[in-house]
Amino acid sequence: MLEMTNIHKRFGKSEVLKGINLRIEKGDVVVILGASGSGKTTLLRCLNFLEKADEGHARFGDIDVDLKTASKKQVHDIRQKVAFVFQNYNLFHHKTALENVTLGLIVGRKIPKEKAEEIGRKALDKVGLTEKYQVYPAQLSGGQQQRVGIARAVALNPEIILFDEPTSALDPELIGEVLDVMKKLAQEGTTMLVVTHEMSFAQDVANHVIFMDGGVIVEEGSPQDIFRNPQEERTKQFLRRVL
Ligand code: ATP
Repeated sequence: MLEMTNIHKRFGKSEVLKGINLRIEKGDVVVILGASGSGKTTLLRCLNFLEKADEGHARFGDIDVDLKTASKKQVHDIRQKVAFVFQNYNLFHHKTALENVTLGLIVGRKIPKEKAEEIGRKALDKVGLTEKYQVYPAQLSGGQQQRVGIARAVALNPEIILFDEPTSALDPELIGEVLDVMKKLAQEGTTMLVVTHEMSFAQDVANHVIFMDGGVIVEEGSPQDIFRNPQEERTKQFLRRVL
């Protein structure tokens, strides 16, 4: 359902993505691992046009786009299919949890407010925030704010959700509640591409794990392959550091 071919991205002289190829099927939970600076976030951002790739193609279902020259219409069409969960939640602070979740539905999708609120309440229920519809982000914990961020993505009913280090801004005691929500989504069959440093999530929830280093995919396989039987020296070194 999502296939990326030969994605390249430079920032000035530094080539951060050096030809990434990746295929994700419906229902897959793909986790991208890698040291800081290996290009993981940049890859996700290129896929959602938050950064413009210098080269590369992506096929999202029936839409095939050149990531460098995508038209406004193609970008719009792809954003109907792909939702993004940000490391720092990216919530509007002057809007309630429900307003944060419904904004994209009302403004982006032109769904009538009442219907959007019905969808938004269901999405907040799913992430365990039934009591918090009318609460502002400042009154929520970091874990709850990120769950609003996840509800906002879920409400869009996307074909895939991209998660960019969704727990790395959280205090350790708040990480579990966010991972539990992600695990539940995975069990329900949500297609997910997740950049994370949470090895337990990669081991227990992913069905495919990718290890990136220096802008390339060094190794990929099942969690069993990557964690129990890594083939590449760079993967082994990384795992020795993090496990
Ligand atoms: P981390 O785990 O620390 O988030 P990462 O693997 O996600 O790392 P990226 O955030 O994709 O890595 O960054 C890859 C490289 O690109 C880094 O060297 C980073 O400094 C650089 N980079 C990222 N965004 C920009 C930007 N907007 N301008 C210039 N350089 C950037």
